Amino acid sequence: MEKLSNPQKTIEVIKKYDFAFQKKFGQNFLIDAHVLNKIIASADITKDDCVLEIGPGIGTMTQYLAEAAGKVVAVEIDRNLIPILSETLADYENVTVINEDVLKLDIAKLADEYNQGRPIKVVANLPYYITTPIIMGLFESHVPVKSITVMVQKEVALRMQAGPGTKDYGALSLAVQFYAEPYIVANVPPNCFMPRPNVGSAVIRLTLHENPPTTVKDESLMFRLIRASFNQRRKTLLNGLNNSPEIKASKEQIQAAFEKLSFPANVRGETLTLKEFAALADEFAEF
Ligand code: SAM
Repeated sequence: MEKLSNPQKTIEVIKKYDFAFQKKFGQNFLIDAHVLNKIIASADITKDDCVLEIGPGIGTMTQYLAEAAGKVVAVEIDRNLIPILSETLADYENVTVINEDVLKLDIAKLADEYNQGRPIKVVANLPYYITTPIIMGLFESHVPVKSITVMVQKEVALRMQAGPGTKDYGALSLAVQFYAEPYIVANVPPNCFMPRPNVGSAVIRLTLHENPPTTVKDESLMFRLIRASFNQRRKTLLNGLNNSPEIKASKEQIQAAFEKLSFPANVRGETLTLKEFAALADEFAEF
């Protein structure tokens, strides 16, 4: 079958099945072969790889993944797309389509079943309304994943890659960078999709750390500290933490921790590195 990255072919399939795009599922299908080739190349897919694709749509990227990978498991929530996928992926024997909500799926079990528990690669043009829960879910459940190469909203990609002291730096930057090394592969304009989204997009690759960049006694305490710091951006870190209902420490204890770590009394959360947040969390763990 001719590739769906040819916009004419996509239109033909949509018409044949009388498919109605569903905004609530974030359906913007790729129609640009150049972008698709770039995603496959940057995800570094080989025949040894088992790929999880989240949201195959009508199968545009799935066709490329099937040609490059050993195995592709594609999880699609919209049941109206399932008959379409049976036709567009009929030539590929190494693809399994699962009609499920990816947020409800046991991905560790899936990696077990399709890749004998070895690390999988995740590749997707993500539905933007659930980008963060999908990515954080993959990290926090400690599913065996080698890398995550995804199309996301451009602003989100910038936040994931941002470093301390920049305007995009925040809780998402720290959460992502605790688990993975981010790299923005390409910016993608709205005209590469059908229908066009009203935001810019970017492809970002997150390569999971083999060894964590920092260790911390209590991960969940560190992330509570991070959230509390960035929830009140205009305050100093001291006031932000002191006013946060999530943090149970007195002003004196917070000041003592800052002194021990040689942080200035008026330090702001947005200047701290991941390692510094980890050190701070280790001090708070003693309270
Ligand atoms: N991969 C296709 C492409 O690039 O042309 C489609 C990408 S489109 C941005 C996102 C896809 O994710 C849609 O097909 C949508 O139905 C699907 N989707 C949305 N929410 C989902 C969920 N919770 N679980 C699985 N798939 C979902």
